[in-house]
Amino acid sequence: MCDPGPVREIRQSDKLKNVRYDVRGPILVEAQRLEAEGHRILKLNIGNPAPFGFEAPEAIVADMVHHLPEAQGYSDSQGIYSARTAVAQYYQGRGLRDTSVEDVFIGNGVSELISMVLQAFVDDGNEILVPAPDYPLWTGAVSLSGGVPVHYLCDESNGWQPDLEDIESKITENTQALVIINPNNPTGAVYSEQLVRDLVEIARKHDLVIFSDEIYEKIVFDGLQHHHTASFAGDDVLCLTFSGLSKAYRVCGYRAGWLMISGPKHLAEDFLEGLTLLANMRMCANVPAQHAIQTALGGYQSIDDLIVPGGRFYEQSMTAYKLLNDIPGVSCERPQGALYCFPRLDPDVYPIEDDEEFVIGLLRAKKLLVTHGTGFNWPEPDHFRLVTLPDVEMLTEAIERIADHLATLRA
Ligand code: PLP
Repeated sequence: MCDPGPVREIRQSDKLKNVRYDVRGPILVEAQRLEAEGHRILKLNIGNPAPFGFEAPEAIVADMVHHLPEAQGYSDSQGIYSARTAVAQYYQGRGLRDTSVEDVFIGNGVSELISMVLQAFVDDGNEILVPAPDYPLWTGAVSLSGGVPVHYLCDESNGWQPDLEDIESKITENTQALVIINPNNPTGAVYSEQLVRDLVEIARKHDLVIFSDEIYEKIVFDGLQHHHTASFAGDDVLCLTFSGLSKAYRVCGYRAGWLMISGPKHLAEDFLEGLTLLANMRMCANVPAQHAIQTALGGYQSIDDLIVPGGRFYEQSMTAYKLLNDIPGVSCERPQGALYCFPRLDPDVYPIEDDEEFVIGLLRAKKLLVTHGTGFNWPEPDHFRLVTLPDVEMLTEAIERIADHLATLRA
């Protein structure tokens, strides 16, 4: 027999020490274990419309299929010309001056672009202001790139608006950038024009770059208007706007997102050179999906039918919000947009010490998966996020399961 020799344990890199992404973490592993045992699990942990009966606009699918034969090769690393033109024109139409195809990067979803931008931008020890709660890729990607995510508070008692004083109090000489997520995941808050202006003013005053994640820009309720941060950043604040097809066009699986760079680009030439290097190193984004971008941004916007009374996104969101508030000891701010509810469990009623354990308990007892609030870098174990994508009937049944489970936990 051959001597196997010393067996070396292969460990993950130290770079991952502070990196978490709980939405698909141990809670999902446990859900998959239960599925393997034969249980049917209702998964309300991921904002992915397709499994809940949402279909992409037909023209988008048709466009991709049409272009498949000619999409076999790599494209330009920044993206195909028609997609970048469409994105540039989209922002020009919204009042952004001085933007061109050169300022647009197409990526495999916003996710890839967030990671690339932070790798290109962050030096070890740089502090980046990230909202709490946040979409956890932001915190994870800052840590992975050697930076320090510094969380600023979004205030639940004030409609989950960012606390401007808290932001200012956390700015140090190491602070380099401010992340804004509007409309917000997980809270569903949509920021007023004044609030966006105030956030930009803080960035201006402290010479911060703004990363504005606007992937839910078209999912806003009650006739609210979404305000692009870049519209107020002017010529003197560098603003990187992220958006894409995943949510508004219901094609998360196509992996199509974009980055629009605006403001004093002449001061950012070195950074942009670094970003271009990283874009080159990964060749290009998925080419067939890039062809869908021009079609998506032009023409009829079917998302508009989903966000008004009678439309599925609106009705489901409002149903979830109302039913959650009917549960004793549960309170939920009314979502103004996006695809989630982020309810609070009164700690006097539900003395939960570990919210991930709470989620796993709910999963095992009720075969329903939500995500714990600390997974969104919320500091207390007293929230969870529910995806509001199932139809009203399924959502009602899911919230009944939550209510039943909570009844067993009441102090
Ligand atoms: N940003 C936010 C706030 C999100 O909620 C998500 C996905 O849920 C993303 C970015 C990533 O989107 P994409 O599918 O474009 O990678």
